[in-house]
Amino acid sequence: MTAATSPTSDRPDVLVVGGGIGGLSTAFALTRAGLSVRVLERAKEFGEVGAGIQLAPNCTRILDDYGLLDEAKGLGVLPENIVMRDALDARELTRLDLADLERRYGYPYMVIHRSDLHALFLRACRRAGVDLLTDQKVVGYENTGAGARVTLADGRTQEAPLVVAADGLHSTARATLVGDDVVSSRYVAYRAAVPIEEVRDNGIAEKDVVVYIGPRCHFVQYPLRGGEMLNQVAVFESPTADSGIERWGGPDELDAAFAVTCDPVRKGIPLMWRDRWWQMLDRDPIDTWVHGRVALLGDAAHPPLQYMAQGAIMAIEDGWVLAQHLSRQQVGASPNWSAALAAYQAVRVEHCHRVQTTARAWGRLWHLDDLPRRQRNTIMRARDTYDYGFTDWVYGPTALTPDEEPAMFTPVPLSSAALEDDGAGLAGEGAR
Ligand SMILES: Cc1cc2nc3c(=O)[nH]c(=O)nc-3n(C[C@H](O)[C@H](O)[C@H](O)COP(=O)(O)OP(=O)(O)OC[C@H]3O[C@@H](n4cnc5c(N)ncnc54)[C@H](O)[C@@H]3O)c2cc1C
Repeated sequence: MTAATSPTSDRPDVLVVGGGIGGLSTAFALTRAGLSVRVLERAKEFGEVGAGIQLAPNCTRILDDYGLLDEAKGLGVLPENIVMRDALDARELTRLDLADLERRYGYPYMVIHRSDLHALFLRACRRAGVDLLTDQKVVGYENTGAGARVTLADGRTQEAPLVVAADGLHSTARATLVGDDVVSSRYVAYRAAVPIEEVRDNGIAEKDVVVYIGPRCHFVQYPLRGGEMLNQVAVFESPTADSGIERWGGPDELDAAFAVTCDPVRKGIPLMWRDRWWQMLDRDPIDTWVHGRVALLGDAAHPPLQYMAQGAIMAIEDGWVLAQHLSRQQVGASPNWSAALAAYQAVRVEHCHRVQTTARAWGRLWHLDDLPRRQRNTIMRARDTYDYGFTDWVYGPTALTPDEEPAMFTPVPLSSAALEDDGAGLAGEGAR
């Protein structure tokens, strides 16, 4: 293996394009594996936009392996439960007991400010000696005999035995190497992080992640920064998504989308940031992320709809898996780049494909209306809080080979009698 990091090396072992959570966590992991790594970020400064992020045990397990879990815990919050409620009547549908979840998986479920997580990885990269460069927009990729070359916007080039493209949803690498388009879900997300004392009277659960699911909309709340702040995400189907307007989903649509929701949700809507919103886009899963010595990673490889809260986690897992395969090479020898890349692709594609397609299905389920909504509620209420059939395949240990990947959970259909019983009960309460 190539000797340890030299920040000033002209030709690092690995060029990582993109200094988001995926790029920085991967750069750190590869440096730990004994490789010299340079990050090329197009922005003038490293940073993250947005508010909170949820980190399930499949991520906190990796943070622990990196020696970063205690630092992350000091910045985030360990909530007590994830509670799912109906957005129209606020009734509880199902919950996860996060203390029990931690016992099952061995690692906690955490919520943290995105900028705190990003800064955590940035500090870790600096300590590890990653060469961190900003104002470096990569516009081209090509394979060479001994690796790959990137071209920057100013015409300069850089080369390395391996190039990792972690340049996000609108990845230039993906456009160059795959050429597919993003897929619009027609949904849009608004975010906010507000001081907790401003919202104490809104019926919030200060120690839980609460997800209200409703017709064509949902609303998420959880505490941040030691419980001093409340994170909110409001997501709805935009009536202008197909109108040809470039910035569809504007703030004029937000209030109308949540007008008939329950009190705790409606009280949260005026607090949403209205100067920025996120159109919910993903891409169809693809089987090939590795093109010679250029490897796609994170959202560039597998951008999901965020409904499973696994997008950033998958990026962090990608970097951990790639580094594990590179660090398993014989000490003293050159890395077997092709073997490591093949192993990375063999295990990560299948898992991320599942997350992407499950997230789409999750979105359809959350946003149901009328009878399908009531049937969904019946099924969700019938779930045992301590049934982990839905979570084992995703919160369990990150697989390094395809045979370690647990089988997909197949839901057992409820009897139609149960659906009819509860449907009648709900109709009697005047539910929509
Ligand atoms: C509303 C919402 C909520 C979410 N909640 C969660 C959650 O709870 N948990 C979770 O795990 N995930 C969540 N996600 C998903 C998560 O945010 C993303 O999957 C994750 O940030 C992707 O990280 P990335 O590093 O791959 O890409 P990005 O964060 O997009 O980073 C890409 C980086 O590459 C840089 N770049 C781009 N192009 C170039 C170029 N040509 N040259 C050089 N640099 C370039 C960019 O400036 C950026 O710094 C959520 C997403 C949304 C929208």
